[in-house]
Amino acid sequence: LPTIMQQAIPVLEKLGEQGYEAVFVGGCVRDTVMGLSIKDVDIATSARPEQVLALFPRCIPTGLQHGTVTVLHNGIPYEVTTYRTESEYEKHRRPAQVEFIDRLDGDLLRRDLTINAMAMYADGELYDPFQGIEDLRHKVIRCVGDADARFQEDALRMLRTIRFASQFGFSIAHQTWRALIKHRELLQFIAMERVFAELDRMVSGAAPQHALHLLSVSRLLLYCGTPLAAADKLGEAYLANPDSFKPFTQIHKLQHPDMRYAAMLMVDYLTTIEADETLKALRLPTARVNSIMAVLHMHSQLIMKQDEDLRLTWTNAVIQYGETAARGWLSIAQWDPHQVLHPYANLFMEWLDNMPALNLKQLKLNGKQLAGGLNQEPGTWMGRMLQRLLLQVALGKLPNEQEALLAQAQIWNIED
Ligand code: ATP
Ligand code: MG
Repeated sequence: LPTIMQQAIPVLEKLGEQGYEAVFVGGCVRDTVMGLSIKDVDIATSARPEQVLALFPRCIPTGLQHGTVTVLHNGIPYEVTTYRTESEYEKHRRPAQVEFIDRLDGDLLRRDLTINAMAMYADGELYDPFQGIEDLRHKVIRCVGDADARFQEDALRMLRTIRFASQFGFSIAHQTWRALIKHRELLQFIAMERVFAELDRMVSGAAPQHALHLLSVSRLLLYCGTPLAAADKLGEAYLANPDSFKPFTQIHKLQHPDMRYAAMLMVDYLTTIEADETLKALRLPTARVNSIMAVLHMHSQLIMKQDEDLRLTWTNAVIQYGETAARGWLSIAQWDPHQVLHPYANLFMEWLDNMPALNLKQLKLNGKQLAGGLNQEPGTWMGRMLQRLLLQVALGKLPNEQEALLAQAQIWNIED
């Protein structure tokens, strides 16, 4: 057993001493069998929540109605959940009813995928009634039991199926895939926040290209509750040319998840408005929408003005959208050797690295100094003048020194 599971054994043993059954379940069992590092340790038990609460001095009733108690042992939290069945799934999502049961196999039966429905005893022995091990060995994602029924109960499982298939590079069992296609319109019942949580794990994960392939082929995202303006067009474009569609096939080369979204949305047949609508429909946090959109706006400006003075265009864009957006755009421009703007990326990078000031904060002259130096009343003219000075400094045409900046301001003042 990996160390973090060994550390949890006293929790299992304490439950065992009282005559309850307790086992490791879910992702930690799967990841241990696969030899992967595990994130968190989940425990299932025949003890009822109030019995768990009574047994451990330090615990938090995190989800009592679902049977979950978080037990703190040596400062580490463990989710201890009572064996349960689920029923009366309302509108194809989370169950309205859970019923506590005494038997482990009933608890495993309610789980989504065979590889997620294995249990492990404290001594490392596996309990695997649905042949999850076989599926791990053959690298197959398969629903527990009847796939049709499982997706009808909870439509989020369709996205989880694709997420796990891409995460592990597994294929999807024939029946499971057929059921997914058959029931894909049920995704409309799942809250967009939960859709996005799964999608984000796919896009940020190790094999986003695999997930995007499965999403395109299944067209699953076209059935979201809120339409995603970009999903249809991107999926079509990919399917028309699956091997050379760089926004999907090369996407794993980008480190930052938000730049992965930006790269996908940076295709010429999507407008920035459609991109913005899509991100908002997905309920991305505003800060993330803003950082992605800054890169996309910057991109359309660079494309539009690529015949003009390049250094001026780039410098203006950097000042307007900021250094983070500029570096994000550069990371995308550099990933793909065929991108139109790529030849300029190295040049742009060099200009950016050598810009003495990128914003007013870095300018060695502030409004007060400017007004004082010119002996004028403060006013809105200062902002305009400082921006004008900043551009000259960023272009390397004016030293970033207070004296030189004031002198230039005086000249412009007389000229105007
Ligand atoms: P990860 O490493 O991504 O956390 P995980 O398997 O731990 O993987 P969780 O979402 O944390 O995934 O869920 C824990 C367990 O609960 C799963 O392994 C699975 O057995 C069960 N489970 C989670 N979501 C569902 C669902 N929608 N339907 C059925 N069972 C589910
Ligand atoms: Mg988990």
